Amino acid sequence: MIVTRFAPSPTGFLHLGHAYSAAFAWQKARHGGGKFLLRIEDIDPTRCRDEYITAIEEDLAWLGLAWERPVRLQSRHFGDYQAALDKLRGKNLLYPCFCSRKDIMAEIADSGHAPHPASQGPEGVVYPGICRHLSSAERERRMESGMPYCWRLDMERAMKSVGELNWLDEGRGAMAANPQDFGDIVLARKETPASYHLAVTVDDALQGVTCVTRGEDLLRATDVHRLLQALLELPAPFYHHHRLLTDVAGRRYAKRDKAMTLRALRENGASPSEVMNMVGGWPVFG
Ligand code: GLU
Repeated sequence: MIVTRFAPSPTGFLHLGHAYSAAFAWQKARHGGGKFLLRIEDIDPTRCRDEYITAIEEDLAWLGLAWERPVRLQSRHFGDYQAALDKLRGKNLLYPCFCSRKDIMAEIADSGHAPHPASQGPEGVVYPGICRHLSSAERERRMESGMPYCWRLDMERAMKSVGELNWLDEGRGAMAANPQDFGDIVLARKETPASYHLAVTVDDALQGVTCVTRGEDLLRATDVHRLLQALLELPAPFYHHHRLLTDVAGRRYAKRDKAMTLRALRENGASPSEVMNMVGGWPVFG
């Protein structure tokens, strides 16, 4: 049975792009006679607010969507992400990194890389590996001294342990995963004990999501998710990365475009079907 999900972060009101993405996942599940889930991605307490969670549910219900209960709030499941981190640590694939952004930029400048594209990955600067080479005694000493740190994935070792990976996108076909382009990604920090990549991969598996639908801005992120699935021995769902909606000026909708939030459109008298017309109508499958 097909299981899809819409997974917004409660950092603002939903906008037209979200309406399309949510409708896409909902229609996809309905078309396949399956289930549609709503998941709240609130792992970052500095950016997420409870009032937006209520607003997300109200706006989706107003559009006419219905979802399975209970809704999963990521902030209530840190234990699940911790277990995944423990598993990766048990395989010797994580290391603590004590670098500040300043340390990283200085190292890149020193090594003569900057502004060489070799230091740029799909999510910005690739970590130059400074802390990968610390001895275990030094790691322990720094951790005990109370220095702040995050956990990074040793990408090279991780890739070696799983070999070549592919994932399936409905529109694009088989895609070769190249997570090595991201370098040693951060999987957990002190203030957010799970990164987006880790939480989304663990949750999609735990919730039995079979088809991940989301915007094509996250196409490359799927390479990382596929790697984490392989390392954590989780099933691989299939994917459908949909087009991104843009405003009349050709810019992607963002939470800062207050006039294009569902909340504002609704308050200005728009009906749900008018809003769906603004995003090109309900997505059609089959
Ligand atoms: N929470 C992510 C976002 O709001 C979406 C994650 C996903 O669909 O994988 O962009």
